[in-house]
Amino acid sequence: MLKIAVIPGDGIGKEVTDQGLKVMEYLNGKNGLQLTLDKFELGAERYLKNGEVLPEKVLKKLETYNSIYLGAVGDPRVPAGVLEQGILLKLRFYFDQYVNLRPVKLFKDDFSPLKNKGVNDIDFTVIRENTEGLYAGVGGFLKKNTPDEVAIQEMVNTRKGVDRVIKYAFEYALKYGKEPKVTLCDKSNVLTYAHNLWQRAFKDIAVTYPRVETDHFLVDAITMKMVRNPEIFDVIVTCNMFGDIITDLGAELQGGMGLAVSGNINPDSVSMFEPVHGSAPDIAGQNKANPLAAILAVGMMLKHLGYSNLGDRVEKAVEQALKENQVTPDMGGNLSTDEVGNYIVTLLKQDR
Ligand code: ATP
Ligand code: MG
Repeated sequence: MLKIAVIPGDGIGKEVTDQGLKVMEYLNGKNGLQLTLDKFELGAERYLKNGEVLPEKVLKKLETYNSIYLGAVGDPRVPAGVLEQGILLKLRFYFDQYVNLRPVKLFKDDFSPLKNKGVNDIDFTVIRENTEGLYAGVGGFLKKNTPDEVAIQEMVNTRKGVDRVIKYAFEYALKYGKEPKVTLCDKSNVLTYAHNLWQRAFKDIAVTYPRVETDHFLVDAITMKMVRNPEIFDVIVTCNMFGDIITDLGAELQGGMGLAVSGNINPDSVSMFEPVHGSAPDIAGQNKANPLAAILAVGMMLKHLGYSNLGDRVEKAVEQALKENQVTPDMGGNLSTDEVGNYIVTLLKQDR
């Protein structure tokens, strides 16, 4: 029995996770999958009612789950950052989710902004270090608010932290890679301490995976390559800051935020799966949000939990809905959020 904690959150988060729930409810019992789904009310409503963001007792309870399925948090009535930091970042650090998994996969030729590239060219995965680097929050001001002010933001790279994310990238390539190949993306020519460590760690781990090919690009060069020759990539591993930047580029290559999915993973603890988009208050409550990223997040979660076959079926159903244009207005269709969710379930029923 697998226990899934569902955090719908705010705005369209609720609407899109409802569609993901339909998919999970339909797949429950198939291929030996046994899910228990429990909803957790976290987000703006709770905060506005009693000031609670993510109480300790809820965190403790979440520890007993296999995975978290999250919609989106953030609301204009709540000061910026309170919910994002208090829920999203808090969960990420509490469960030490050191891998941010971001697939870049084009489902339909027309969606790519690259005129000569199609579905066979854009299909790779970025693995971003998710807990340290420039996001470690180490630094400070010297002579603040004077003309001589110096602001320092330190990049913290621990050998253990770098090793574990690179190892995950090689394991991932072995399991799901195409060639398989792992590409290291860094700035070792300038960050001569931080990324020297990354280079040594990468080299030491690579020799233990003789079946996996390796490659290396500096971060500036990789942005050019992602646009010119995305087909050369299989799995890319990179630090927190560069991962942040190149995954947004990746999201555009595959047709925008409406299809971008993210996994925050700790293979030894509770992992969390979510669509990349936010709560989008401008379209909330109108039943027109695109639920496909949230549905793809279900597919990624099932794969992570060992049900690759079911995960692939979810992906195939999304691909099919896109081909048939059975999608929301932002993707060029005219279905509502609910109708897209129902259609995906219909497709899953047909594909046994
Ligand atoms: P965040 O602060 O996390 O970035 P946000 O509320 O700004 O969240 P985004 O996800 O960044 O929302 O989205 C920006 C805009 O894109 C939204 O305001 C909305 O108009 C559109 N959008 C985002 N997600 C979807 C979706 N799933 N379906 C349709 N439109 C979307
Ligand atoms: Mg935004």
